Amino acid sequence: MHIKKIKAIKVFDSRGIPTLKTFVYTDNYITGVSIPSGTSAGKKEAVELRDKSKAFFGKDVTKAIDNVNKIIGPRLVGEFLLDQTRIDNLMIELDATSNKSRLGSNAILSISAAICKAASKELDVPLYQYIARLNNKKIDKKTNFPKPELNIINGGEHAGTDLAFQEFQILPNKNKISQNISMSAEIYLQLKEILSKKYGKSSINVGYEGGFAPNITDPKIALDLMEQAIKKSGYSKDVFLGLDCAANSFYNEKSKKYFVNNKNYSSSQLMEYYADLLKSYKQLKSIEDPFFEEDKNSWKEFTKKYSSKMNIIGDDLLVTNPKLIKEGIDKKYCNSLLLKPNQIGTITETIKSFNLARDNGWKVVVSHRSGETEDSFISDLAFGLNSDYIKFGAPARSDRNSKYNRLLEIEGVYLEE
Ligand code: PEP
Ligand code: MG
Repeated sequence: MHIKKIKAIKVFDSRGIPTLKTFVYTDNYITGVSIPSGTSAGKKEAVELRDKSKAFFGKDVTKAIDNVNKIIGPRLVGEFLLDQTRIDNLMIELDATSNKSRLGSNAILSISAAICKAASKELDVPLYQYIARLNNKKIDKKTNFPKPELNIINGGEHAGTDLAFQEFQILPNKNKISQNISMSAEIYLQLKEILSKKYGKSSINVGYEGGFAPNITDPKIALDLMEQAIKKSGYSKDVFLGLDCAANSFYNEKSKKYFVNNKNYSSSQLMEYYADLLKSYKQLKSIEDPFFEEDKNSWKEFTKKYSSKMNIIGDDLLVTNPKLIKEGIDKKYCNSLLLKPNQIGTITETIKSFNLARDNGWKVVVSHRSGETEDSFISDLAFGLNSDYIKFGAPARSDRNSKYNRLLEIEGVYLEE
């Protein structure tokens, strides 16, 4: 039950950008976890170490890999595998910065997650069960699966179009995860038909998270298209809508204006735009990052108005950081947390952020990043923590479906009735 060796290698994410896969060697197994990377990152995320050399437009990870293989790994050899908190704290101490900028959140998280998975293997329990145990909980057949938010139209920095909002999501609302994913895949294919008939074949090209990227600029058209697809599939009663506006990406810090559908909006004008949207689309029950991360008065006002009606999710605003989450709770900036392990850098801190949000009555959405690998660690994380929601992209492309498929496997095999 002790760590014998740790080794990181370079693998590639769904965008073709290098990332780390780190292996933990224990008595009976060699266990690897690869980690994701964001495109539209929040300013205060823990620092992902990139080489900034010529290779891969500055995005190579040889320094982060060296940090695992030459600095952190050797320090952790001999540590007790089940001491997740101690090991994570040792890495935080070794890094000795407030944002993991010396050793890299990518180096540190790849080890933290691989240790967690290695422990589950040595104990011969499913990963989700081990994660539940780290959080002093237990999963059984009655545990609810999180509800999925599936991004079926991509915009913002995730697509090569001028659609300002980043994600247009469907939120299926049945209890079984298998029903929710099946319905969503039907809606996705229906939307493909509608798009290709209306706008031609090029409109069914997809963005980073597997959602379609038609050449439209008006968010209302995207929502109309989704409503049509839901209706044609016969699921109008079972499916809500959601948005990740990712407003950092259409906010101009100099002019202090938001740019949506070829028009500039002040904060208060954008607030009115959202009011109109919520009036027109009654199914809209979730909104993420509606304002720039520093436009906190707008966040507060929006939450005051709509908190009882919908989930208002802080992503770039909170970056899975307990200090920022605490501030968000105290000042009522939003009512839900987007949980991304690589924004903070260790599994221990991820669980701490989860509990902080949950204990204060917030909903939690466990989320992928736009640059993903085939790894499905976050599926076990979401189920093991018993999160309210998951956000893993469209029900298409294996970097996304590996996550949904893992949940289908848990429901259909591990927890078979
Ligand atoms: C998001 O903004 O929620 C997201 C998944 O995108 P990225 O990984 O690019 O930050
Ligand atoms: Mg987001």
